[in-house]
Amino acid sequence: MAHVHDVLIVGGGGAGLRAAIAAAETDPKLDIAIVSKVYPMRSHTVAAEGGAAAVIKENDSIEEHIKDTISGADWLADQDAVELFVKAAPSELIQLEHWGCPWSREPDGHVAVRPFGGMRIERTWFAADKTGFHLLHALFQTSLKYESVKRYDEWFVTKLLVEDGRCQGIVAIEMQTGLMQPIFAKSVILASGGGGRIFPFTTNGAIKTGDGMALAYQAGVALKDMEFVQYHPTGLPGTGILITEAARGEGGILVNKNGYRYLQDYALGKPLDVNDPRHPQLRTMELGPRDKLSQCFMKERDKGNTIPGPYGDVVHLDIRHLGEKKIDKKIPFVRELSKNYAGIDPVYEPIPVRPVVHYMMGGVHTDIDAATSLAGLYAAGECACVSINGANRLGSNSLVEILVFGARAGRHAAAFAKEHGQVNTTALAAQAKDEQDRIRKNFLTKMDGKERISTIRTEMNSTMETGAGIYRQEGPLQDTCKKIAELKDRFKNLTIDDRSNCFNTELTTALELENMLGIAEAVAHSAVNRKESRGSHQRSDYPKRDDEKFLTHSLAYRTSDAPRIEYKDVVITNWPPAERTYGEK
Ligand SMILES: Cc1cc2nc3c(=O)[nH]c(=O)nc-3n(C[C@H](O)[C@H](O)[C@H](O)COP(=O)(O)OP(=O)(O)OC[C@H]3O[C@@H](n4cnc5c(N)ncnc54)[C@H](O)[C@@H]3O)c2cc1C
Repeated sequence: MAHVHDVLIVGGGGAGLRAAIAAAETDPKLDIAIVSKVYPMRSHTVAAEGGAAAVIKENDSIEEHIKDTISGADWLADQDAVELFVKAAPSELIQLEHWGCPWSREPDGHVAVRPFGGMRIERTWFAADKTGFHLLHALFQTSLKYESVKRYDEWFVTKLLVEDGRCQGIVAIEMQTGLMQPIFAKSVILASGGGGRIFPFTTNGAIKTGDGMALAYQAGVALKDMEFVQYHPTGLPGTGILITEAARGEGGILVNKNGYRYLQDYALGKPLDVNDPRHPQLRTMELGPRDKLSQCFMKERDKGNTIPGPYGDVVHLDIRHLGEKKIDKKIPFVRELSKNYAGIDPVYEPIPVRPVVHYMMGGVHTDIDAATSLAGLYAAGECACVSINGANRLGSNSLVEILVFGARAGRHAAAFAKEHGQVNTTALAAQAKDEQDRIRKNFLTKMDGKERISTIRTEMNSTMETGAGIYRQEGPLQDTCKKIAELKDRFKNLTIDDRSNCFNTELTTALELENMLGIAEAVAHSAVNRKESRGSHQRSDYPKRDDEKFLTHSLAYRTSDAPRIEYKDVVITNWPPAERTYGEK
C-alpha cells in the first residue's frame, strides 16, 4: 500500500520534531510523517551541551542579541532573518519549558543564564550541561501527543521525488527489511542536520553526513555559504568529543605550554584574575567567538607554544579554580567526558583540547519562511541556511534556530499542503522505481568494483582538512577541488561486501559517502571562489574582509561538472558593516 501524507519531514532531531508539532497545531486534520534514519532521540541535537540563547534578563535587550549575532557572523547574516529569530527566541524557550524542558534556575527560581562565546551579555539558558538531551526529550514527548504525527523510524531517505516542478515526496530504504519505497507528500521539509563528517576530526556524530543538503543539491536547489565551516576551539584530542563552551562560560581559561593565557595577545581583551568575582562576567578573552579562538590556536602552534600530543598539538583548558562543587553542579558532563575520554579528572588537572570541526553555517538555501526555490520543499535547522549565522555562528544560537525556523517550516509547509491537491503518484512511482534500480545496480548487484568506502572516505577527510581547514589558500584549495572530483569518479567503482536486506549499514554508509562527496565539493568550490577572509573562512592569501566584492552569499549549484557558483546580496537593514571587536565593554 502506498504511503501518502500531507506534510513529510526528513529528520527527527530538534528542527524536525519542532516542525512536526507546528504543522500538527496548524490543522489537526493534516496527516504528518517524520522519517528518520535513526530513532529520533538519537539525533545529534541530543548531544548539545552548553545551552540556548534568548533575551530574558533585564540587563539584556533584543537589540544587543541582534548586534552580537550580526557581528559574530562577520556581517554575512541576513539582518531581517536575525531580527525575526531574536524576537521569536524567548517565546520558543518558554514554550519548551511548558512542554517539560527543565531549565536550570537561580536560587530565587528565575531562569538561570550563563555567559557564552561572542555573546556580550549573558543570555544562554541551560539545563546543566545536557541541554540538547532535555530539549530533544521535551520535543519528542510533545510530538507523541499528536495522533496525526506518524513516524518512520530507521528509514534512510535516498532521493527527493520531483514532478511538475514540485517536490512531492521521497524514496527511502526501510532499514529493517531493506525495502526501498516511495513516501508521497504534498510538501516536504528537510530537517536532516549538518555534515561535519566530511572532515576527519569533528564533534559531529557519525550520522552527520549532510544527507539532506545532498538531496536538495541533487534536485537542483542551491547550497548557500558552504565555505563557512565552524571549528570549535575545545575538542578532546583523538575522539573530537566536545568540551562545551560552558566550561569557559563558567570561568575556565585557556593556557599554552608555558601556562600563559595566550588569548591576551590577540586583541580579545585583557585577562582578569580568575579569583576576581567579576570573572567571567566581564567577558574575559576566553569568551571570544569560536572562529577567532580557533585561529589563535593555529597562531600559537606556529609560534611553537602548543603542547605536542599523540593526536597532534593541544593547549590546556583549565577549570581547576572553579572547584569540585561548582564543576559537579554546573558542568558535570565536562568532568565525565574528560575522565572517560582523556583519562584526566579536570578537578585536579587541565584538559588537553584542540580546535575541531563543529558546525556548518552553510546549507540548503531558504528564505525567511524556510522555503527553498523548489515548490513544496522546505528546510530548517542545521541543514538549512536562512541565514542567521553568516560567516560564524555564535554558540547557543543553533538550538534556538532549530526551534524558531523548525516551527516556521512546519507552519509554511502545512499551509502549502492545504493549498495544493493530491500528488501524482503514478508518475512518482516510476521515478521511485528508477531510484531502486540505481541503488541495486550501483551497490547491491555490482560485482566488478575495486574501491572501498574507507579508502575514499579517508582521502576525502584528509583533503578537506589540508585544503579547507582553519586557514586556506588558493593552491591547496584547488588541489582539494581536484581531489574531490577524482574521488567522485572513483566512487563509481565502489564495491560493498554486504548484499543483505536487513540493516545493511554498509549500503547506507556508501550512500552517506556519496552525499558527503557532493557537499565536500560545494564547500571546496565555494571556498576557492571567495577571495577574502571573513569569519570562519580565512584565506592567508587574501587576509582582509572585502565588503566591496564579497558582502554576498555564495550559492553552489550542482552541474554535471564542477559546481556553478553564483552570488546573492546579504540583506542589511539597520546594522551597517563594521569592524568586529571583542574584549571588555
Ligand atoms: C556535540 C555538540 C554540542 C552542541 N552544543 C550546542 C549547544 O550547546 N548549543 C547550541 O545552540 N548548539 C549546539 N550544537 C549544535 C546543535 O546541537 C545542532 O546544530 C542542532 O541540534 C541540529 O539540529 P537539527 O534538528 O538540525 O539536526 P539533528 O539533530 O542532527 O537531526 C537530524 C535528523 O535528520 C535525520 N536524517 C539525516 N539524514 C537522513 C536520511 N538520509 N534519511 C532519514 N533521516 C535522516 C537524522 O536521523 C536526525 O533525526 C552542538 C552540536 C554538537 C555536535
